[in-house]
Amino acid sequence: MSEAGVTDRTDLLGLDRPALVALCRDWGEKPFRGQQLMRWMHRRFESDFESMSDLARGFRETLQARARVSAPPVISDHLASDGTRKWLLDVGQGNAVETVFIPEVSRGTLCISTQAGCAVNCLFCSTGKQGFARNLGAGEIVGQLWLANRLLGARRAELAAAAAAAGGEDGAPDDHDRIITNVVFMGMGEPLLNYEATVTALRIMLDDHGYGLSRRRVTVSTSGVVPMIDRLRDDMPVALAVSLHAPNDALRDRLVPLNRKHPLAELMAACRRYLERAPRDFVTFEYVMLDGVNDGDEHADQLLELVRDVPCKFNLIPFNPFPEAGLLRSPPERIKAFAQRLSDAGIVTTVRRTRGDDIDAACGQLAGDIVDRTRLAQRGERRRVAIARA
Ligand code: SAH
Ligand code: SF4
Repeated sequence: MSEAGVTDRTDLLGLDRPALVALCRDWGEKPFRGQQLMRWMHRRFESDFESMSDLARGFRETLQARARVSAPPVISDHLASDGTRKWLLDVGQGNAVETVFIPEVSRGTLCISTQAGCAVNCLFCSTGKQGFARNLGAGEIVGQLWLANRLLGARRAELAAAAAAAGGEDGAPDDHDRIITNVVFMGMGEPLLNYEATVTALRIMLDDHGYGLSRRRVTVSTSGVVPMIDRLRDDMPVALAVSLHAPNDALRDRLVPLNRKHPLAELMAACRRYLERAPRDFVTFEYVMLDGVNDGDEHADQLLELVRDVPCKFNLIPFNPFPEAGLLRSPPERIKAFAQRLSDAGIVTTVRRTRGDDIDAACGQLAGDIVDRTRLAQRGERRRVAIARA
């Protein structure tokens, strides 16, 4: 059998179990090999077919010639002082996406991207400002989880070695430095506008032979693609977060342009329908706090009216400013008062802690920076990714 070029080989990371089983059958193997392959890749994070010791030699050779297990290359790796870690990944043709790991005491959350850029173009979002480049494939989406697992494992080994070299007793850091217990689709892009790849990635994340995550521990965040909220409910009802950001259509039309297509009444109805199948009995509404724009008491009161029939929680996000936004973060006391008003009315409300501030770990920030630098770089006829690596 002649060897295919690396890029011509089938990338196995983006294949769910039925697809892996079908592939094995097509290549003359028993269907259960698909399951084995899945476990090697997603439970042991293996990419080298030679190490997959319980596969027959002939099959390993076939895989070597015709398949690959590869996630997008890492352009840069940033570790913030609070333990938040952010990777910038090269998805080709000068495009980069980001993946962020946020360790907390009782869980570790990985925030992943679904598109390079985003077409929704929300007023306050630096990803939106970059425009839309392309959808990520399922392999590139699930590849972020695969890669983070590998890299966090590698970090653990490094720390252990460093501690041992320094004469420490036990070099292994706390497990929560590395264990991914939750996944949120809150990186770059609108997951429900890349529906097929998002659902395939979800299927692999939830599969017992894949990552085995429960539906409650995986959250898809959407700006409100109503028809796709219904499809997700039917196909793969995971926890749902909806980026609300405004309590009335006039303001939301400005902040989240998609609202002109799917206005608030439709969106609230879709949330209610979703809750019939959702793994949690509430929707999380995200609400970015913009000084003087959407943060008044009157906005809180309108919100309470809007969500009256939708069991929900609120997550207030202090706006993360970027140079060309022309918007400001609400002052802390305003955010507190707004949260209090919602809580007083009986709605569980949290204010998102800003994590990884020293590495710009908020939505779209670092990749946005790269696009800016690229524009400068292109004038000098240098490649975007090369600049990002510099
Ligand atoms: N496209 C999806 C998921 C990615 S954005 C969505 O919009 O829901 C993830 C969250 O980050 C959204 O709630 C989004 O509104 C928020 N966000 C975007 N830009 C931000 C900024 N500059 N500061 C704070 N939050 C921001
Ligand atoms: Fe896209 Fe979400 Fe950013 Fe809006 S907030 S532009 S939907 S990534």
